[in-house]
Amino acid sequence: MREIKPILPSDIQRLVIASVLKRVIPCVIVEIVVVWYIAFFGETSLRMVDQSVRVLIYIALIVIPLVFTGVPLKLMDRSWKGEIIAIEVESNFSAGLKRLYEVNQLVITIKRDDGKIIERSVKDFSNASTKNMSRGKVEYAEDDYAIGDKVYHYYGVPHLLVVHADKSRDCVVCGANNPYSNDRCFNCGHSIIKKTF
Ligand SMILES: [Zn+2]
Repeated sequence: MREIKPILPSDIQRLVIASVLKRVIPCVIVEIVVVWYIAFFGETSLRMVDQSVRVLIYIALIVIPLVFTGVPLKLMDRSWKGEIIAIEVESNFSAGLKRLYEVNQLVITIKRDDGKIIERSVKDFSNASTKNMSRGKVEYAEDDYAIGDKVYHYYGVPHLLVVHADKSRDCVVCGANNPYSNDRCFNCGHSIIKKTF
């Protein structure tokens, strides 16, 4: 399948570039230090250990920064679109410090255009009938999503663009639901994506 490369509004594009660099730059710096250390001090500092163990330690030193910064995942991310085919509320028990407490989460099943079925879970949703804001943070409600809602994921952004039946859409930066008439998100001020791919 041909890869989709949707064009994002420039303010969101800048945000994506900044978020990629924020991970890539520290990762590159750490990797340079690791390679430099291995090249100059590897042999002397690890001379007590076996050659094969030494190689394993080198591999671990190189892989750990990649895992911690999430760079490979970030670079592998792709844009896709799909449709909501199921919505479920799941209750799980989570272990707290003193007791178990119940955590409800909304599990949204999405059928992607490439046929892949994926699930997204939304924690901390309230039972109120509309998406609430609490201190700038979006609280999701059970009926925020409906079967048939179109869903778009853009490379590198934190939230899905959900196009609801009433044409309102979610901000890809903070997740707040905005009426179609909004050009900018009432919550974070970023562009609301009107033209989908
Ligand atoms: Zn927003």
